[in-house]
Amino acid sequence: MNYRIRPLLLGEAVVPNVLDVFWSLTLDQARSSVPILGFLILGAEEGPIVVDCGMRDPRRAQEIHRLGPHTCAPDQTIPAQLARYEVRPEDVSTLVLTHLHYDHAGGCALLPNARILVQRTELMAAAAPMGPPSLEIGGKCLFYDRADVAELVDLVWDRIHLIEGDYEVAPGIDCVLYANSHSPGHQCVYVRTGSGTAAIVGDIARKIDLNIDRLIPPGLFYDLEAMRRALADIRKRADLVLPTHDWETLKKGTIG
Ligand SMILES: [Zn+2]
Repeated sequence: MNYRIRPLLLGEAVVPNVLDVFWSLTLDQARSSVPILGFLILGAEEGPIVVDCGMRDPRRAQEIHRLGPHTCAPDQTIPAQLARYEVRPEDVSTLVLTHLHYDHAGGCALLPNARILVQRTELMAAAAPMGPPSLEIGGKCLFYDRADVAELVDLVWDRIHLIEGDYEVAPGIDCVLYANSHSPGHQCVYVRTGSGTAAIVGDIARKIDLNIDRLIPPGLFYDLEAMRRALADIRKRADLVLPTHDWETLKKGTIG
């Protein structure tokens, strides 16, 4: 069985370029507009699978995390993006969250029937973020949103499936945990497709040339060595790497 992948454009954000590359290696102070993507996987017996679900509210995201302007056009909502592929939100069987940062985990309630796969360590980290309480960007909660955490542990809790380590979602669709990479419980989703193995990598890689080809870690990580190992492992396993915040992913992310 080969699966099909469709990128979902769930908003846009202006963010510092320093997020793309290990901070000490760049003097780049510029900002760029990046997409906020989710992914739809088609072809599973259980029904459509979604990976990551965008941000809760663009204005709230901008205020709390202080990266830059965030937008979500009417045609960039989860229901609108799924409708492009004739999928209704209630049809989605599984939602995999690569990690719980505000731009990946804000739309869980919009998929009312999906079981939600998240690493236990990531939920723990989101509920009680580690790190200095005051940063210029990231807010007090280091890019986690209290409203997302509240929703996960209450409103959608009955649908949460906590994973500890690697996990097979379906034959040919695998979650792999890369602990303390971009976040404490960040996982990637490897998908078997007609074009080889595609890796939905969340934010472990942001730019293919920098982070995968040259193995230069992106700007935000918890453990540098863990991040470098994660990038090398992704490069080894994947024929195609799909970062969340790269416009190139929108062009090449339609697979099968
Ligand atoms: Zn992100």
